Amino acid sequence: MSRSVLVTGGNRGIGLAIALAFAEAGDKVAITSRSGEVPAELAKFQVIAVRADINDAAQVDAAFTEVEAAHGPVEVLVANAGITKDTLLLRMTEEDFTSVVDTNLTGAFRVVKRASNKMLRARKGRVVLISSVVGLSGSAGQANYSASKAGLVGFARSLSRELGSRNITVNVVAPGFVDTDMTAVLTDERRKEIVANVPLGRYAAPAEIASVVRFLSSDEAAYITGAVIPVDGGLGMGH
Ligand code: NDP
Repeated sequence: MSRSVLVTGGNRGIGLAIALAFAEAGDKVAITSRSGEVPAELAKFQVIAVRADINDAAQVDAAFTEVEAAHGPVEVLVANAGITKDTLLLRMTEEDFTSVVDTNLTGAFRVVKRASNKMLRARKGRVVLISSVVGLSGSAGQANYSASKAGLVGFARSLSRELGSRNITVNVVAPGFVDTDMTAVLTDERRKEIVANVPLGRYAAPAEIASVVRFLSSDEAAYITGAVIPVDGGLGMGH
């Protein structure tokens, strides 16, 4: 059955792979980004691309209204948009901290809140939040990012308690290091250090995150909620 799926930050990286996975399965996919452009990979599917800055509740609201008009109420929401502003605590400004939390955590709050009303009425829904292995393990130079990603876990678990009786599941995927624009900025030396600590000895491809998101959004995953699923090649084992 074709569902109305919304992926934030679906124009590139992990979000694009997620959008592609749902589109290939025949779902009605909408993506949001700050540019609102349809990436070439999605051009052959009937995907809607909507311009929306996740930091602005009015833009989020308008994006949902547009998506609902075209595809119907959002049944599967993937809160994927995120940023980094890495630096050590002593150099981290308050703006470095609050802007990352605002995008990664409050941004997820904005979209889930906007989607939840219709999901509650429909008495069904799937929400997947994209966190990170460093939300659980911590990471030097990423206090802002790690805090935002850890926050998603408490957020998801609270929501799974609030929304579970209405057949809405809320889960977290915690990727390790994935080949995207976000990690392209890391030096070769840092990349080697990271890979040395990954039992599988490599970065993930974005599609390897997307397949887990799709599973969590499927009927087969109907009894999974409040879970944090690592997709990290073993990097975060034990957390
Ligand atoms: P990219 O930097 O490749 O893409 C980030 C996406 O987020 C883009 O689509 C971007 O849209 C969107 N975005 C950022 N800020 C905003 C905003 N204010 N409003 C709307 N959209 C915004 O990142 P990845 O694909 O690597 O990461 C996707 C998610 O996965 C993030 O949440 C990230 O934290 C997480 N993650 C990534 C890992 C990795 O190794 N790459 C590891 C673990 C987690 P735009 O084009 O408009 O900028």
